[in-house]
Order: sequence, then C-alpha cells, then structure tokens
Amino acid sequence: MEKNSKIFVAGSDNFIGSSIVRALTRHGYTNITGEGIKEPDLRDKEAVKQFFKDTKPEYVFSAAGEIGGIGANQETPAFFMLDNLLTESHIISEAHNSGVKKLIYLASSCTYPKESNQPMKPEYLMTGPLEPTSEFYATAKLTGIKLCEAYMQQYGDSFHSVIPANPFGPGDSFDAENGHVIGALIRKIHTAQQSRSDSITVWGTGKPRRDFIFIDDLGDACVFAMENYTGSSPLNLSVGEDVSIRDLANILINLSGFQGQANYDLSKQDGMAIKLLDGSELKNLGWRPSISIEDGLDQTNKWFVENHL
Ligand code: GDP
Repeated sequence: MEKNSKIFVAGSDNFIGSSIVRALTRHGYTNITGEGIKEPDLRDKEAVKQFFKDTKPEYVFSAAGEIGGIGANQETPAFFMLDNLLTESHIISEAHNSGVKKLIYLASSCTYPKESNQPMKPEYLMTGPLEPTSEFYATAKLTGIKLCEAYMQQYGDSFHSVIPANPFGPGDSFDAENGHVIGALIRKIHTAQQSRSDSITVWGTGKPRRDFIFIDDLGDACVFAMENYTGSSPLNLSVGEDVSIRDLANILINLSGFQGQANYDLSKQDGMAIKLLDGSELKNLGWRPSISIEDGLDQTNKWFVENHL
C-alpha cells in the first residue's frame, strides 16, 4: 500500500472504523475515501456497487455493521444479524467486482466457540457451538470470515480477516443498557456519583474474563495487518492479556473516586466465561501496543468526564 493509494474504510463513522481512519492518517496515508464524504447505505447493494464504481478504491477495510453489548444483542438479534450479513456481503462482493487489491475484514471474538480452549487460536473457529447470547451476530461475522476465504480460494483475492479483542476507549458507546461493559460501567459509576447513590449494578457474576484492546491500538493493528498480513486464516488482534469483570469494575471505581460498591445482578447473563485471544502471531509479525490497559482505562474515563458530563 502506497502512501497515496486510494483506501476505503467502510464504517468510517463508527467506533472502530474511525480509529482506522485516524491510524491511517498517523501513518501518513493521504487518500482515504470515506473520510468526510458520505458513505452509501451499505445495506443497499446497488448503492454500494455505484460507490465502488465511482470511487474505485484500491484497498478496503470492512469495519461496517452494527455492534452492541450483551444486552443489545439479546434484545435485537435479527437487527444485528441482518445488518452485518448485508453490509459485509455487499462490501466484499463489490470489492471483488471492482478489483480491490487487498481487503481487511473486521470480524469479532464472539465467532469463537463458547467452550473454546483458551487462549483462542484461529484453528478453533467452527469447532463447537457459539455462545447463545451473541450467536446471531456471531454467525453473521463468521459468514464474513468464510466469504473472504471463499473469494481467496475461488479467485485468489487478497481478502483477509482479523479478529479484534474487545475494543474500548474514547468515542465508545457509554450507554448503560446497550453499550459494552467498559462504556456501560463508566456511565453507571458517574450516574451513581451524580445522584449520590452508594452502589452500581454490574451484570452477572463478575467472574467472566475478557481481553480488551485500546481503540487507537486497534486502529493501528488494523493498518499493520493491511501492510503486513498475507495469511489465509484470520489474524487475532490482541495483546494477549485478560482481566475479570470484577477486577475491571474495581479499577473503574478507583479511577473515578467513587466511594460506593459494586452489586452483582445474577439475573443478568455472563456470556462466555473467558474470551482471551492468542496474540502470538501478531506479536511475531512485530506489532506492539502503545498503551497499557490501565492507562487506556484512565484516558477513557477522563474522556467521558470531559465529553459526557
Ligand atoms: P461480550 O464480550 O460480548 O460479552 O461483551 P460485553 O462487553 O457486553 O460484556 C462483557 C461482560 O461484562 C459480560 O460478562 C457481561 O455480563 C459483563 N457486564 C457486567 N456489567 C455489564 C454492563 O453493564 N454492560 C455490559 N454490556 N456488560 C456487563
């Protein structure tokens, strides 16, 4: 990829897509389609076809598709599944039809089986049933992985999938009901502080373990994958460290100076017990994160205070 190559980031206005645009800019790429121009409705096949015809991108990041936390996925599974199926299939097929040189497809760690061995390696995909709380969204994302493989197998296209750890950071959703755990807990803690409540509610047992990646590191890792990854199996984008939800809640409580306590609502689902990605391949290729999880959480908490309070 040359510094002036034409690059399309599908989903450039969402949390992950915008981090890829920022990373591309940091790395000196100057010709980013999708930045500042109106993206077509990616669920509309004809609109996507016309967009590729008009803009002729050479490199594509497919970061589009609706995402949500464990609550949102259980509330509206058809919405998440259909949106992702439509957007990924339109982007991947039109990237092929218009001769895109390389495509990076953003999958999700919930594509791994519920009972997967840990840390999770790409060869464990499709070796067991999915976690029920996210199985519809995960099925759509698995389809995207397989579609890239199919285009690679049938046409020799350089279409590669990456599987990010759970992203967090400035710009995330801080919705207490529909966001992912870090955004939701930051919101709950600050709401409790404002209303002088002495506790927050954390869903589930607090025992699940998750592997988090700071959003700017994720954007950077996506650009790194575009520049360096040529493998046919998905590449995990992970630092390879996990933390329990209980420890995470305590870190966030300490960061905010909240004096109350965390109550665990056992009527809410835990989801997968552990999601830890094996990050060794990314590390072997030479990628390193720029920030520790603790510093990333601190930055995220400060950003929330400045932008949402
Ligand atoms: P997941 O990796 O798809 O399960 O993503 P989430 O970020 O939605 O949830 C991660 C874990 O945090 C799950 O075990 C949730 O039960 C737990 N959790 C605890 N409190 C919350 C909360 O307020 N919101 C969300 N989304 N998850 C929470």
